Amino acid sequence: MIAFKPVRGMRDFLPEEARIMRFIEKQARKTAELYGYKEIITPVVESYDLVAAKAGEEVRLRMYAFEDLGGRKVALRPEFTASVARLVATTLRNEPKPLRLFCVGSLYRYDEPQKGRFREFWQSNFELMGPEKPEADAEILLLTKRFMKSVGLKNIIFKVGHVGVLRSILSQEGLAEEVQNQAMQRMDKKLYEEALKIVREAGASEKGIQTLQSLVGLKGEDAAKVLEKMRKIVEDYPEAVEAVKNLGEILSLIAEAGEKINITVDAGFARGLEYYTGIIFEVYVPELDIALAGGGRYNKLVELFGGEPTPAVGVAHGIDRMMLALQEQKAEINVEETRPVMIIPVSENLNSETLKIAEILRAENIPVELEVMGRKVSKALEDADRRGISHVVIVGEKELKEGAVVLRNMRKKEQTTVKIGELAKTLKLQIS
Ligand code: AMP
Repeated sequence: MIAFKPVRGMRDFLPEEARIMRFIEKQARKTAELYGYKEIITPVVESYDLVAAKAGEEVRLRMYAFEDLGGRKVALRPEFTASVARLVATTLRNEPKPLRLFCVGSLYRYDEPQKGRFREFWQSNFELMGPEKPEADAEILLLTKRFMKSVGLKNIIFKVGHVGVLRSILSQEGLAEEVQNQAMQRMDKKLYEEALKIVREAGASEKGIQTLQSLVGLKGEDAAKVLEKMRKIVEDYPEAVEAVKNLGEILSLIAEAGEKINITVDAGFARGLEYYTGIIFEVYVPELDIALAGGGRYNKLVELFGGEPTPAVGVAHGIDRMMLALQEQKAEINVEETRPVMIIPVSENLNSETLKIAEILRAENIPVELEVMGRKVSKALEDADRRGISHVVIVGEKELKEGAVVLRNMRKKEQTTVKIGELAKTLKLQIS
């Protein structure tokens, strides 16, 4: 016999992990509700051309892409943004803006499996479509912070940059978008020398290269100070100056919103996805050196997919990595557990009566586990004890004749006879 195991990069989530995953997902939904984001559900299989369009080389080369039986070139979605932008460009084209859209689900990338990097992973994704204003960017960062906090994560750090600063310089230096993309890819991987080589070979001036070089080394936690330095470095590039101003506005809004958020501004920060046009950011905790979330502004994507010009900003939160970070931080996760009641027939001829009583309790919203292994009462009680079950209903012939059952409190090791009609009420009082 072959011992099957999950395909490399894929995982099973056992009950304990599944519970934490679903808890994080629940908090994501709560966050969506708090900020007015409506959930949409998009397909896992998308057209290859859609998801490849602006995903960037890094993601594009790692897609699960194949031809379906109808000969269509398709891919398992590597991210959500393309799907959401597709909808906004088509079906939701005439919806009034702003559109606040939320989705959660699994994504697929043929990444090299390692800590926090899987081939199937989960994200919650928030997209704010329509507004160009810095308030929208601030909202995306603020909701991310609130979400991270709501699951119990501590010491969140935002790493923030602005693609507009870098791209404006490259554009003014006359570099085509394709070359810009190549340079940004290298910067995303911190291969700055390679990035500068590409820029130099594409014909950028010495001043342009020096400007980029100065930006690459510039970062710090004092946003005002870093921004002032950025402004000075890029002063001969008017669009880059505007981009720095935009970043300053967003960060001021966040600072004024009340809660303290730790932000490191990194002037040389780039992200792999090609559709970004404005602020970009990633979220970290000190215990892990991989990002828990990433996002930014992308003003051209909907238009690229044939829609109306629609400025947009969004974020994807990596649920698997948030789970990992919670473990690293040894966070206590207070997920409410429903404690089932166990119901045991004394003998096999009472099985159908027992099932009927179980259904009466479930109709009253009381979780019930039926003894289905045909064990003797004493064995079944041992099992209930081992599993920490607090109440057991024992269905016996004698009590049943009186329309009653035995209710055993496992903690107190006490039992009473209770009329079936009173059982749900009695249990509810004792369980709560
Ligand atoms: P991206 O879509 O590349 O902006 O990624 C957003 C977030 O998704 C990252 O910050 C990670 O938390 C998560 N993520 C991306 N790729 C993976 C992966 N291969 N395994 C687990 N999480 C991932």
